[in-house]
Amino acid sequence: MIFRRIRAIFLIIVLILIFFNVFQRFSFLKGDFISSKKVIVIDPGHGGKDSGTISVNNHYEKDINLEIAKKLHEKLMSMDYKVILTRETDEFVDNNYRADMANEKKARIFVSIHGNAIENNNSINGIQVLYYPNRRSTINDSNNDVLAQIMLDELVKGTGATDKGIIGREDLIVLNQTKMPAIIVEYGFLSNENEEKLLLNDSYQDKVVASIVNGLEYYFSLNPEN
Ligand SMILES: [Zn+2]
Repeated sequence: MIFRRIRAIFLIIVLILIFFNVFQRFSFLKGDFISSKKVIVIDPGHGGKDSGTISVNNHYEKDINLEIAKKLHEKLMSMDYKVILTRETDEFVDNNYRADMANEKKARIFVSIHGNAIENNNSINGIQVLYYPNRRSTINDSNNDVLAQIMLDELVKGTGATDKGIIGREDLIVLNQTKMPAIIVEYGFLSNENEEKLLLNDSYQDKVVASIVNGLEYYFSLNPEN
């Protein structure tokens, strides 16, 4: 009798374990993503009433951000990542909303796309990557500066642009409110005429996109499932 009871309890425990295991695997039934591992949030900076910087020849940063972000979106989708854009059109999006969206979607990584500018100086050019130095992440990854450096190295290698370094920034909402590794790619200086020209060019944009993809793939290879 006692053995039967023990066996019954044992069976129940096994069934519960199987149930939870299966439920976890099929968590998309609850409307969640199957896994956050493949979710990438791409954030085209500015939009709508916020044009971002205006280039030497009056192109808006917000438009170039969106072009590059959409290409990146398309490329990553073709590689089976789940990619979410914080905006898909020329609309104003609050920075807190961008960070909240990434947190809600349990993004594996957050990449914000921006163009740079410097007032009264048209000679400065090159790529920078910004990161938050004190991430409160629960993901057991490399620190943000590692991601920023990998990304910068790939971008400099892939585009031939000047290396303007990685910069820790504590004051930027999309970096300090996101809970996952997050960076801002400053793809070039729109205040520099030559770089502006390159950034309006389709094939140069493709190089920027390919470099970001390489950076992400390399980063993921160093930080596999955890
Ligand atoms: Zn910007």
